[in-house]
Amino acid sequence: MSEREQDTMGATGGVASTLNEKFDASPWPRVCEKFRQEFGQHAFSRWLGQLGYNGIDGGTAELTAPTKFVRDWIQSHYAPRLKDFFTAEDPQVKALSIRLSATATITKSEAPQSAQGEKISPATIGSRADESSALDPKYTFDSFVVGKSNELAYAAAKRISESDDVTFNPLFLHGGVGLGKTHLMHAIAWESKRNNPNKRIVYISAEKFMFEFIAALRYKDTHAFKQKFRAVDLLMVDDVQFIANKESTQEEFFHTFNALVDNRCQVVITADRSPTDLEGIQERIVSRLGWGLVADIHPTDYELRLGILQSKAEQSKNVDVPAEVLEFLARRITSNVRELEGALNRVLAYATLVGRPITMDMTRDVLQDLIRANDRKLTIDEIQRAVADYFNLRLAEMLSERRARTIARPRQIAMYLSKQLTSRSLPEIGRRFGGRDHTTVMHAVRKIEDLRRDDSQLDEDITRLGRMLEG
Ligand code: ADP
Ligand code: MG
Repeated sequence: MSEREQDTMGATGGVASTLNEKFDASPWPRVCEKFRQEFGQHAFSRWLGQLGYNGIDGGTAELTAPTKFVRDWIQSHYAPRLKDFFTAEDPQVKALSIRLSATATITKSEAPQSAQGEKISPATIGSRADESSALDPKYTFDSFVVGKSNELAYAAAKRISESDDVTFNPLFLHGGVGLGKTHLMHAIAWESKRNNPNKRIVYISAEKFMFEFIAALRYKDTHAFKQKFRAVDLLMVDDVQFIANKESTQEEFFHTFNALVDNRCQVVITADRSPTDLEGIQERIVSRLGWGLVADIHPTDYELRLGILQSKAEQSKNVDVPAEVLEFLARRITSNVRELEGALNRVLAYATLVGRPITMDMTRDVLQDLIRANDRKLTIDEIQRAVADYFNLRLAEMLSERRARTIARPRQIAMYLSKQLTSRSLPEIGRRFGGRDHTTVMHAVRKIEDLRRDDSQLDEDITRLGRMLEG
């Protein structure tokens, strides 16, 4: 099938009849129909409906996906069935290929044609597009949630993108993996460009900087290399810890850096540790890196994690994520934001796929492995003590047979929290609460879930307890 014919496939209205015949000959509409029948309309719109069909080439059905996430999800969940559907329509088809479509959310600056269809493309970022690595349009200041742990980094990044004057040079952002350094750099690039479209901006990973430099050495073209990096207004180098111990790259980086700073060009640098903790980087570079502003991003706290989850959940308009699920994730996935996002995406994807609303049970099921890895091994004993303390009861009293509301309610809350915060089973929890039956625990969990919805005081108590227990 030629490209022209493919192009017309997307245009449903007013297609000439000759083209219609070719359209009918394509297996794609029938593959879609089979998918819909087997997996439902919901799964179709969420997944397959997002793919583009490019025809069959040498026994391979060629598809394109808008994002890596969609591609990977289809690969791991539907690929074998999809191939079967194709083969049933056209026995020639032996394999499936899913590539990222040219207008993917992350455009590769190396492929200028890919910039088509993007409102802002990396090509507009610098006068020479090939200098910058791909910028993710999702990484903006708007989508960045600010909390205590990152407010300095955020404010500094914002300042740089708003002013044409050099404020602090360089801005050195550092923090552990997955805490938003790259996000902030991309945000600076987008925002600077919005404020001043003529600004020449280069964003590059230190690793790429190094490879380009080595290539320049090999092809004896270091002059061009130098020119390229020195003719910019804003240079951002991500993850400079990568050039530790790489003597010649460091040397070049330092010269570039000095030249830019002397020309009053803004430089932004990130690393996974502070300048003084960078090993294998020359003393003079370290000290010069510290001349500007050094801002560190601390690990997230509970509030920030919850804020990030809420903002991401709001973006998924089709699926409702209950507050208790967000709280659960914020409490349990403490490693970094990337993992936190990954967890939420997994739950969202699962719910969409099976077409059921998100619940606590589903969340626990889907994230078993992650939760275990992040487990702080909170014990039922700790929970019981915390709850008894909180409600001014003696532990023995709370575990007793007494049914007075003032005692029974805290007991139910403790059972509920034990279920939420530990991986213990209902019978196990029952045993630890004075040898009660698992149905009693189940009843308590349901009861508290119900009450939380209407009783804001109780809801607040539980949230506070959860936070205390989380440390
Ligand atoms: P780093 O470069 O520090 O390793 P990234 O910038 O790649 O981390 O962030 C990892 C993921 O977490 C990204 O998807 C990013 O959008 C998200 N993220 C990190 N911090 C925040 C935040 N404060 N608000 C919203 N998203 C965040
Ligand atoms: Mg990064």
